[in-house]
Amino acid sequence: MEIRKRLTLQFTVIVALILFAAEFSVYVFSELKWKEDFYSRLQNKATAVAKLLLDVEGVDADILRLIEKNNLSTMPFEEILIFDQKDRELFSSRDSARLVITPTLLDQVRSANQLEFTQGRYTVVGFQYPRTNDHIVVVAGAIDVYGLRKLANLRNILIIVFLVSLIIVYLSGRVFSNRAIRPILKVIEEVPAITESSLHLRVNEGNGRDEIARLAKTFNKMLERLETAFKVQQSFIANASHEIRTPLSHITGQLEVTLLKERTLEEYVRLIQSVLEDIIKLGNTANRLLLLTLTDSDSHHIPMMPVRVDELLWEAQSELQKTHPDYKVLIRFNGDFDTEYLLTARGNDQLLRIAFLNLMENGCKYSEDHQVHVILEQVDSLIRIRFKDEGVGIPKEEQELVYEPFYRAQNVSHRQGSGLGLSLVRRIAKLHGGSISLISEPGKGSEFALQFPTCQD
Ligand code: ADP
Repeated sequence: MEIRKRLTLQFTVIVALILFAAEFSVYVFSELKWKEDFYSRLQNKATAVAKLLLDVEGVDADILRLIEKNNLSTMPFEEILIFDQKDRELFSSRDSARLVITPTLLDQVRSANQLEFTQGRYTVVGFQYPRTNDHIVVVAGAIDVYGLRKLANLRNILIIVFLVSLIIVYLSGRVFSNRAIRPILKVIEEVPAITESSLHLRVNEGNGRDEIARLAKTFNKMLERLETAFKVQQSFIANASHEIRTPLSHITGQLEVTLLKERTLEEYVRLIQSVLEDIIKLGNTANRLLLLTLTDSDSHHIPMMPVRVDELLWEAQSELQKTHPDYKVLIRFNGDFDTEYLLTARGNDQLLRIAFLNLMENGCKYSEDHQVHVILEQVDSLIRIRFKDEGVGIPKEEQELVYEPFYRAQNVSHRQGSGLGLSLVRRIAKLHGGSISLISEPGKGSEFALQFPTCQD
């Protein structure tokens, strides 16, 4: 069921219940009050009759009946009966009484002193009235014609009021729920217009204060994040394809030029070497892209185990020197690492080696002396590895940007690179519960510090 219909129905049911309870109490209290009045009128009347019969000299039952017949204050279908101690009827206001008065009933009146009850349509009151030596029992009954009519009228009025109120409540409930739901409907109408090609669109935030406005704001914020993520993804794809296209067109160009005429053996060797370099570069870029997506997605599938950090550093050093014999990586330990576990981390050896290799390579690549100092130290329960060089450095305003995929600082355009290494290193650090920080001054050098927890097993 639609919310607005549900709201209207719930609202109507609640109001109907409250109204019913209110009207029901009005009816019951009115009935009680009218009955009370009627009983007291009956009793007064019966007392007056009993008084006349007993206290006024010369008035006997026949005279009293005559008086009663002509009495204007007689109530509708009124019957008054008076009995002595032995249940003998002393007086009856009518020749043939309709009320059925049994000895049991008279006994009940005597023991209760006063009794109010109904008999058929009759409202009856019975009570004891004192005589010189004993008590007589007076029973008076009448039909409350006016009271019953008034009650019937009241009941009809209350039913009409109830039904009319229900209709009004239902209609106004519909109006209010429509008004309350309208902003949500607006949002629902606007949302389908927002597609991947129009992520810049936003939904209306209404008055900016109520819950629906907050919902719209939250939705808009989510759209903003989606738009940014989408843009990042698009530029990532554009950069990635550029990184792949450049060496490919380089290869194609070289091959095409070479094929224009016959070449010497040396020229062919040079061509093959150059093409090989481009292919290696392509392979590196493809590998890094793959690693980036692997480390970015769900990390649960990446195997983690205790690894010796110092051994991985040595391995990365020898791997780098194999491809770049002119690079110098100087590893040293700062402080005492008396137990093996201080050098052990829970991690993925392949990923950590890639991170170390990347930081070592950068240190050498971006410095004149092609030299990097690697310092391994312990800070609380963390292993910290600093990669320090005296190279070109990184301008302050670019120090955060270098972690973005494909970003390369302005001052390194003359050196080859893809701009993917540091973003990979940062993700690897994060995967190992660690972080990477940088201190750098252009022209003086840079120091990258990679830190992550030691193995607690
Ligand atoms: P790449 O080195 O392939 O360009 P990285 O992601 O490893 O990509 O580095 C991103 C950028 O950060 C580099 O292009 C360079 O501008 C800067 N950078 C990284 N390491 C250093 C360093 N040790 N000294 C100076 N600049 C560096």
